Amino acid sequence: MDPVPAIAMEGLTKVYPTGQRALDALDLEVKEGEFLVLVGPSGCGKTTALRLVAGLEEPTGGVLRIGDRDVTHLPPKDRDVAMVFQHYALYPHMTIEANMAFPLRTRRLPKAAVRAKVLEVARLLDLEPVLGRKPAQLSGGQRQRVAMGRAIVREPAVFLMDEPLSNLDAKLRVQMRAELLRLQRRLGTATLYVTHDQVEAMTMGDRVAVLRGGVLQQCDTPHALYQRPANLFVADFLGTPAMNLFRAQLAEDGQRLRLGSQQLPLPPEVLATRPALAPYRGRTVAVGIRPEHLALGATGAPVTLRAEVALVEALGAEQLVHFTLDAPAQPVEGRADPHGEGPAPLHLEQTGATGTARVGPDEAVRV
Ligand code: ATP
Repeated sequence: MDPVPAIAMEGLTKVYPTGQRALDALDLEVKEGEFLVLVGPSGCGKTTALRLVAGLEEPTGGVLRIGDRDVTHLPPKDRDVAMVFQHYALYPHMTIEANMAFPLRTRRLPKAAVRAKVLEVARLLDLEPVLGRKPAQLSGGQRQRVAMGRAIVREPAVFLMDEPLSNLDAKLRVQMRAELLRLQRRLGTATLYVTHDQVEAMTMGDRVAVLRGGVLQQCDTPHALYQRPANLFVADFLGTPAMNLFRAQLAEDGQRLRLGSQQLPLPPEVLATRPALAPYRGRTVAVGIRPEHLALGATGAPVTLRAEVALVEALGAEQLVHFTLDAPAQPVEGRADPHGEGPAPLHLEQTGATGTARVGPDEAVRV
């Protein structure tokens, strides 16, 4: 038998009194020790899902379990969860020590035990030197750590985090991502983490659940989501720059794509791994190619796609090459690979405007 998950949502549904169906029959499990990220565009229902697990909202349908307990109708304090918010919700007039001790106060623990626990967690988070300060005297990163610390002292069964890094500047955010993950690994506490940032989701999640319009689209490891998106929404949502998507006809023999005047033979690995293509012979299909699988001017590539270079954006270590396919005119963005390598590189041969985009930090680009 499978071990009991830390959180189990079964058909979890929330229809607000306004009639807004924010969450529609969500089935999702967070395993023991897992870091699961819930991601999706604004308004897709991720905060609602988190608030339902925390007990801050009542579901209008479904069942919620934490460990082996049905907590669907329990108040937040009886759920054994700790939440970390985007706005750290620290008490401005209290010291850091008092802020961190706050969740333990209601437990009527001896003062010495509270202090020992706060010190232990402060040490873990490198907050010992600032325990006597007020929140306003800390940096953004430190405040974020205090918010984490306040969740950790409670030793909850699960952490719930709602965009906890979104108030930090870009550099600190990247640093805190790694810090937060290390901490979660060390504590081994199951974590449900909400973000709208797909890069954060992909870099942090053991698994990532993609929501859209209150409906779960796919839940899998970042690698599986990237390699095998379940639908066009997931394909387009994950990846920077986004996957190139365009329409083409699958030839009757099922071996080639017709794209305007061009014929693209499907690489053997695509044919081998997409038996589901068979029913689409002779029909228009959506084709998705990740930018990193397009190599500009690569020799020996299995497939050549003719395109016109519209724009080259230099981003430092790499360059983004925007193309327009000849006919029908469809703008397609491609990221050039420096060495023309990749699982199935497509050779982009230029027509019209000439362009060279050998990519590398010291190399020039001529367009
Ligand atoms: P964001 O990333 O913008 O925070 P989200 O994915 O977290 O969005 P939710 O806040 O869960 O989305 O909202 C889901 C939907 O439910 C939205 O359409 C929102 O307008 C609606 N909604 C949220 N809270 C309420 C409420 N209290 N009453 C009515 N509708 C609500």
